[in-house]
Amino acid sequence: MAAGGQDPRTVMNPVLLTFLGSGDSQGVPRWWCDCEVCAEARTTGFNRRARPAVLLEWPGARVLLDAPPELRERLVAHDIRSLDAVFLTHSHNDHVGGIVDLYDFVRWTAAPLRVHVPSRSHDMLLERYPWLPARMAIERPDGPVDFAGARFEPFEVPHGANGFAYAYRIEVAGRRIVYMPDSLDVPDALVDERLRDLDVLVLGTSFWEERADRSLRSVLDVQEALRLTARARPRRTVFTHLGHGVDRRRTLPACHEFAFDGLAVEL
Ligand SMILES: [Zn+2]
Ligand SMILES: [Zn+2]
Repeated sequence: MAAGGQDPRTVMNPVLLTFLGSGDSQGVPRWWCDCEVCAEARTTGFNRRARPAVLLEWPGARVLLDAPPELRERLVAHDIRSLDAVFLTHSHNDHVGGIVDLYDFVRWTAAPLRVHVPSRSHDMLLERYPWLPARMAIERPDGPVDFAGARFEPFEVPHGANGFAYAYRIEVAGRRIVYMPDSLDVPDALVDERLRDLDVLVLGTSFWEERADRSLRSVLDVQEALRLTARARPRRTVFTHLGHGVDRRRTLPACHEFAFDGLAVEL
């Protein structure tokens, strides 16, 4: 350990994950809802959440993971004026609705923005926004992407009633991170293959315990996610994509925490 007790890796090559948004597809509070969590979110705001997005920064690069409808407001709040690349997990509104504002943003910047969106989600994005390639390089990675010294490896995950989504395994400056906001019924084999040896797992959990008919569900609840992390054993887990079924004042087991809008995790 270096002087001051800091890990020398951190001093030399800081990697920073900032949660711009930590909510589920409807955000918190939900427009129409008067439940305890939504009522709290309207007053003290502890559970108030924009939809999900994470900034990943390391020396020389800043990358955005997902582009929710609140993106512009969240980037302004953090005074972020440039992005080097964007990686999208899938083409649902809560993950891509902010791409329209990014399209406007790149009009005023010199370099075209590289936006990565894997496989079938790529086609869905361009069906919805066919004009994006006029100002953005919309990449369709079907394998690992090497970018500014980091590697982003997309992989498909089951997304329950919503079909499929993608997640990313990221290796940067010696750290291993998985960003997997939307998944359900993740097979053990996939956990063993993709979620091994992680420094941080960012995992979506919409409810504490979701009792809805399984055929209607699309994202893990906290109880299912804890079973998944018991198998994968990441060093640290951050739950995000939190709906109004999660009050983040509740406690979690060691090495697990709830994200909130603005949470910064230094690796
Ligand atoms: Zn989602
Ligand atoms: Zn989704």
